[in-house]
Amino acid sequence: MADESIASPVHAAILERFQPASRGPWVDIPDTEWNDWRWHMRNSLTTLEDLARVIEISEDESAGAEGGRDAFKIGITPYYAALMDRMDPGCPVRLQATPRTAELHADSCDVEDPLAEERDMPVRGITHRYPDRVLFYVTHDCAMFCRHCTRKRKVANPATAANEAQIQEGIEYIRRTPAVRDVIVSGGDPLTWGDDRLAALLAQLRDIPHVEIIRIGTRTPVTLPQRITPDLVSIIRRFQPVFVNTHFNHPKETTREAFEACGRLADAGVPVGNQMVLLRGINDDAQTVMELNHRLLMMRVKPYYIFQCDPTRGNSHLRTTVARGLEVMEGLRGWTSGMAVPYYVIDAPGGGGKVPLLPSYVKYRDSSKIVVRNYRGTEHTYWEPET
Ligand code: SF4
Repeated sequence: MADESIASPVHAAILERFQPASRGPWVDIPDTEWNDWRWHMRNSLTTLEDLARVIEISEDESAGAEGGRDAFKIGITPYYAALMDRMDPGCPVRLQATPRTAELHADSCDVEDPLAEERDMPVRGITHRYPDRVLFYVTHDCAMFCRHCTRKRKVANPATAANEAQIQEGIEYIRRTPAVRDVIVSGGDPLTWGDDRLAALLAQLRDIPHVEIIRIGTRTPVTLPQRITPDLVSIIRRFQPVFVNTHFNHPKETTREAFEACGRLADAGVPVGNQMVLLRGINDDAQTVMELNHRLLMMRVKPYYIFQCDPTRGNSHLRTTVARGLEVMEGLRGWTSGMAVPYYVIDAPGGGGKVPLLPSYVKYRDSSKIVVRNYRGTEHTYWEPET
């Protein structure tokens, strides 16, 4: 068990702002089951009949689920499902979780693998694109199948999941590639693995002398915070330095349960970052993003990235324009503390990597000076050194 003595007290006034999530139709489930992440995985909502227990299914959702039956599965933990608004199909949680008919439509720019992750694979299950870091896909399972997922070509498809031999090929590749100092353990969601398997993987990675840092990409603090158990946290602590990056998209997701899950990681000295995806009708306005980021900081989670949504087949209804993204950034910088202002990036289609985007603050520049505008629009001159 984890060392409970390290838990940091949280000020009551902060804690009060994070209310426990509703249990929806599972109100009578014993705590032992509701707090058990495996119970949520076993009772994942996968059919329209399951959804009907939680929401009034709209015609669009029903037709989207029927039409997309063979495409991208439904999979929602009871915890996350209970956050959905029963009556409103436009609920920001529900939009991320339930299929729509728009998923059956592909824009001309939509592609299966928008980031060309499969192209840059020296061995199966490893994308090695940047000089010093690799993405290591260890599973194709997730606690929830997000409708905007970039990797829907393989996530939720057990036929493509990594087997043990493939995992070992990945480990061996990292071992024989000294340039790799940073390993991002991803998927799917690696925290759908049990503790023992995860511990064995982390031990193997930590055994490679040139691996300096390990990052775990997981959405479980959002969709299944019960997964961040004291036992899991004590495993992660054994292999420091480990960073966790998660994926909150809306303030509604920042419940007491999520607060406590992220707090357990922070108490164990595991820095947690958030990678939000900009999604139409969910978070494509500065006020929502600012509120989310303020709440994340109270949860000790650093807003790290805002991603322009990748053009994956069937997600165009959730994508918003870059102009909108720039407006969001304009509404953050200066208006709130820099800690609450993440990088806004496009993951360049075709494997170009992350490219940062900023509103233009430079009004004029020559060899002697630069004229900039600040967030309120006033202009200021910075003189370059004369020698
Ligand atoms: S948790 Fe991540 S990998 Fe899994 S479906 Fe959601 S976005 Fe995709």
